[in-house]
Amino acid sequence: MAFYEECDYLFKAVLIGDSAVGKSNLISRFCRDEFRLDSKPTIGVEFAYRNVKIGDKLVKAQIWDTAGQERYKAITSSYYRGALGALLVYDITRRVTFSNLKKWLQELRHFGESELVIVLVGNKSDLGHNREVTEEEGQEVAEREGLCFMETSALENLKVEDAFLQMIMQIYEISSKRLL
Ligand code: GDP
Repeated sequence: MAFYEECDYLFKAVLIGDSAVGKSNLISRFCRDEFRLDSKPTIGVEFAYRNVKIGDKLVKAQIWDTAGQERYKAITSSYYRGALGALLVYDITRRVTFSNLKKWLQELRHFGESELVIVLVGNKSDLGHNREVTEEEGQEVAEREGLCFMETSALENLKVEDAFLQMIMQIYEISSKRLL
């Protein structure tokens, strides 16, 4: 069976946010149930897949990782092209990654699709003792910007599944309505 016939829907989603907030590890956790302690070996866009069953439909989420491009301020518009969802990630232990959310949101809204589903993710919740951003602050930004919000730990596998599934379910709802 051809690749595209194996599922009922195929969506592209991207991860975005400052370097080292845990984007790659969130993807590895969600798509392969792995966590990597090493840093990324290569620079360049990579993606992974995960199939999700919604009712009797099989949804294939194609999840793109910046794979370090953000370090060089060189995320191209093609990264965002066709993406229906985004996890916008910051690190709860580094306030600068939270302050930079504004910039990432502007970029997402500039390059992203008009109905882009964005879930705000405060990662590294296992490091609560080093916290620089409270959960309430994350929630406030999410409410102000009309986003879903979740704190996750890729290391301890806390709420990672929930964050991706929130995004995938919302994309599915929007897309399936559009096809009716
Ligand atoms: P990226 O640059 O945003 O893709 O970040 P990475 O996934 O490469 O992670 C950057 C660093 O943060 C690595 O050293 C990871 O081991 C670490 N890291 C990622 N997620 C977590 C987490 O949930 N908790 C903790 N404690 N460390 C994490």
